[in-house]
Amino acid sequence: LFDHQREMRFTQTRNQGIGLARVIGGIPWQELVPERGGSTILQALKEGQYNPDFAYAVLIDVHGNSVSEITNPGIIIPNEPIPSEPAAWLGERLVKSRADQGTYLEFHAPLFNGSDLMGYVRLGYLRPAFSIRFKDLPFFATLVLPVFLLMPLFYFLLRQEIRPLRKMNENLEQLLDDNELQKVELHPSGELGEFMERFMQYANSAQNRIKDLQEEQSGLLMSSKLLSYRHTRIELVLQTLPDAILILDEAGMVSFANEKINGLLGIGREDVIGKKPQDWCQDPNLIAYLSRHGSKDGQVGYISDSIQISSTINPEKHLEIKAYPLFSPKDSNKLLGHMVVIRDATEEQLARRSRGEFVAQVAHELKTPLNVLAMYSESLLGEDGSDETFRVEAVNVIHDEVDRLSTLINNLLAITQFELGGMQLNRSRVRMYELLEDAFKNVSQSGRGKHLDFVLDLPREMSSAFVDKDLLRIAVNNLLTNAIKYNRPAGSVTLSAEENGGVIAISVKDNGIGIKQTDQQRIFEKFYRSDDDNVREQTGHGLGLSLVQQIVHMHHGTLSLQSEHGEGSTFTIRLDTDTEMLRQAGVA
Ligand code: ADP
Repeated sequence: LFDHQREMRFTQTRNQGIGLARVIGGIPWQELVPERGGSTILQALKEGQYNPDFAYAVLIDVHGNSVSEITNPGIIIPNEPIPSEPAAWLGERLVKSRADQGTYLEFHAPLFNGSDLMGYVRLGYLRPAFSIRFKDLPFFATLVLPVFLLMPLFYFLLRQEIRPLRKMNENLEQLLDDNELQKVELHPSGELGEFMERFMQYANSAQNRIKDLQEEQSGLLMSSKLLSYRHTRIELVLQTLPDAILILDEAGMVSFANEKINGLLGIGREDVIGKKPQDWCQDPNLIAYLSRHGSKDGQVGYISDSIQISSTINPEKHLEIKAYPLFSPKDSNKLLGHMVVIRDATEEQLARRSRGEFVAQVAHELKTPLNVLAMYSESLLGEDGSDETFRVEAVNVIHDEVDRLSTLINNLLAITQFELGGMQLNRSRVRMYELLEDAFKNVSQSGRGKHLDFVLDLPREMSSAFVDKDLLRIAVNNLLTNAIKYNRPAGSVTLSAEENGGVIAISVKDNGIGIKQTDQQRIFEKFYRSDDDNVREQTGHGLGLSLVQQIVHMHHGTLSLQSEHGEGSTFTIRLDTDTEMLRQAGVA
C-alpha cells in the first residue's frame, strides 16, 4: 500500500513537473521576466500550487544566473547548471542541495525569445515521503475494521477447534509423565474429530501394548535373573570341584572348562573353550578319548569308560579321565554332549603301588619267621631234638619269632581296622607303670642279641590312666622296636616317663642312626621309609609310626620327635591322665 501510494505521488509529481515545465517553456521570455513591482507568473504558480511536495521554481539566464525565483519556506535552491547540449535542455533530474542537504526532483525546460535561447526554467519538488496521507485513513480503516472485528470470533472458533487438541496434548504429557492415558470424553466433529478418534484409538492400543511389553519385560527380567543366578551357582559348583571339568558339546567342542584344568593339563580354560581337543591337547591318548566322546554317534554317549594317563606337565602325576554322557532333560535319548572329569589319581596310584609292595612285604615278613619255625621244629623232631642245649636254643628262637609274628599281626590288624574306620578305643583304667615295664621287658628280651644297653627309667609313683591298653601297648612296642632296629652296635635304648600337671610323657630314646631333618615330617606317613642304607638293610613296612600317631591322636594325646641325624632320636608320647577332664569329654 505504501509503495502504491508513493508510486502514485511520484507519478503525479512527475506529470505535474513535466507539464508545468513545458507550459512555462512555451511562454515568451519577456512575459516571464518580472516587471518591477508586478507579480510574476512564478508567483502565480506558487499561489496556485496544490502539490505539497513543491519546493522551488527558478528562472535562470543562459549563464545560470537567477533572474526570478520562488521557494517554499526552508528551501535553498541548489546551484546546478543545465547541461549545454540542446538534447538535455528539457528534462528531469535529481539534484542535491549542498546548503540544506535536501534531494530534489527537478524538471527543467528552455526559455526562448523568438528563436533566441534566453534561459531556463527549473521546477524543484521534494521526493515523495513515506507517509500515509491523512485522507487515505478511512480507506485503511474500512479495510482493517472488519478484520479487527472478526478477530475475537476467529479466536473463539479457533479455541473451540483446538480444545480437543489441547486436551489430547495434556493427555500425552501425562502419558509421558506416568505412562497413564486418561479417557477423554470429547466429541469433536469433522475431519479433526475423525483424526482425534483414530489417534486416541492408536494411543490406547499403543498404551495397552506398552503395558503388555512392560509385564513381559518384568517377567523376562525375573527369569533372566533366575537363570543368571542358577548359572552362577552351577558354575561356582563346577569351579569348586576338586577335579578338572570339561563339557563337550555334541560336536565335540569344549563349551565349558573350570580353572582346575590349568593345574592338571597345564592349559588355561580360555585356550580350550570353543575348540576341539586336537587344537589344544598334546596327549594322543587323551585326544583319542575326547574325540571318541565328541563324535556324533549317539551310541558313544552310553559308554562311560575311563583312561589313565600321566600328566604332560609332570610325568609323575597320574590322571584319571572319565566321560559322563549328558542327556537332554526332555528327551532322555537325545545326547547333548559329555562331561569329562579329569582327576589327579597320583595318590591312589601310589597307594595302590604301596599296597602291592606292602602285601609282598607282609608276605615276606610272615614267611621269614615261619621258615625259622619250620626249620627248628623239624630239627627238634629229628636227631637234634635229643640235644638239651639245642632244645633250649630252639625254644628261645621259636619264642622270639612268635613274638615278631604277633607284633606284625597286631600292627596289621590295627592298621586294617583304622583303614576301615572301625577302630574304637576300649578305654579302661590302666596302671601305666606296669604297662610300660611289661612292654620294655618284652622288647628288651627280643633285642638281647643286638648287644644294646636297655635302660628303664620310670618314676616310682605313677598314676593310672584311662587308655586302650592294647593299642597303647602297640604304640610303645613300635617305638621300642624302632629304637632297637635303627640303633648301632653297643648303643642304648631308654624308656622313661614323667608326670606333670595331669600329663604323662612317655619317651623312647636311642642313640642310633637318627633321622634326617627332611624325613622328620614324612616318617609318620603311611608306607614311608627313609631313603637311607642303614634303614633299608632293616626289614620294615613303613606302618609302625603311622600307627603310633593314629593311636596317640585317638587318645587326644601328642606325639613329638627330637632327632639328630647320626646321633639318635627321642619319640615322646604325651597323654592326659586327668580322668575328670576325660570323663567330661565323654571319653573316660
Ligand atoms: P618301618 O620301621 O617298618 O620302616 P615305621 O613307620 O616304624 O616303619 O618307621 C618309618 C621310618 O622312620 C623308618 O623306615 C625309618 O626310616 C624311620 N625311623 C623310625 N624310627 C626310627 C628311629 N628310632 N631311628 C631312626 N629312624 C627311625
